[in-house]
Amino acid sequence: MKHETMTTGLQESDIRPAPLMTEFMRLSSIDAHIYFKAPERLVEVPCPACGSERREGAFRKNEFLYCSCLECNSLFVSPRPTREALVDYYENSSASRYRVEHFARETAKERRKHMLNSYAMWLGRMVDEVGNPAARAYADVHTQSPQIFDAVRELGLFDTLYSLYPLNTLEPDCAKAGAEVARGDLSGLGTVSMLGQLENRGNPLDYLIWIRGLMADRGVLTISTRTVSGFDMQVLWDKAPYVFVPEHLNLLSVEGLTILIARAGFELVELSTPGQLDLEFVHNTTAYDPAVELPRHIKYLLEHRGPEAHADFQEFLQKHRLSSHVRIAAVNAATPQEGGR
Ligand SMILES: [Zn+2]
Repeated sequence: MKHETMTTGLQESDIRPAPLMTEFMRLSSIDAHIYFKAPERLVEVPCPACGSERREGAFRKNEFLYCSCLECNSLFVSPRPTREALVDYYENSSASRYRVEHFARETAKERRKHMLNSYAMWLGRMVDEVGNPAARAYADVHTQSPQIFDAVRELGLFDTLYSLYPLNTLEPDCAKAGAEVARGDLSGLGTVSMLGQLENRGNPLDYLIWIRGLMADRGVLTISTRTVSGFDMQVLWDKAPYVFVPEHLNLLSVEGLTILIARAGFELVELSTPGQLDLEFVHNTTAYDPAVELPRHIKYLLEHRGPEAHADFQEFLQKHRLSSHVRIAAVNAATPQEGGR
């Protein structure tokens, strides 16, 4: 299985502008309380990656308990909001509206430049190398960045582009970018992308099985998500500022993701961590909050070595799958089963 390293000059402020993130997290915290407070809106779950019941408490964030799986080291929230509570939250909460109005749109240009173009190029390469050439429909599921369609269309690989269940308020943006908005199950899809979805799904296994049921044989699924195996998560742990409910219910380990993909009936083609921001993220967190204590070695590396050493270190993280931004390509390899989104 392959993995890659890359750099495009991305900075944290390009994709997570601090003032927007601060407000988004403030609203998310208030809304989490409103939408998920009632006991009947919460449910205990096993490890969402490997299915193990063996776990230990890791830390609490805004009253929610993050657990560590003792089998695969994935980090996950349990008890967590039910599917119905999550749907209600994403359709109606102030945080969800804020995400669309400010976060998804205001950072669109930089996002496209840095992330979506390189993501689309990589997706195109995966389809060329391992995809089903006869299946020429593409879908992005639960679209949050409509600009993905501009980038994917330029590949010239697909006859039809679908946005499957985008947020209501993003429908016009998806249509403008040339995608057909779909709110029913599709079939025979040659390629599906899932950008930043796995971490906020109530049941990632059911979600992947549902997606596989929409796909052609040998169709390609591409995923981007965050992993607890990454450097910034491992170093900052409970102090990682941008980890919160319900955006991050599942921070699966590299090992857990590998297991999950197989359980859902996909064949793993690539699992890389091409993240460029781990070290910068750790540095920025301590700059904003001096109370965060770093291991001596990391503190020394940040304070007494320059940009070249930091770039080398980040490249090392990429090369050895130790960055927290993970990218997965997998192929639909088996007979579809029942699932639910
Ligand atoms: Zn596990």
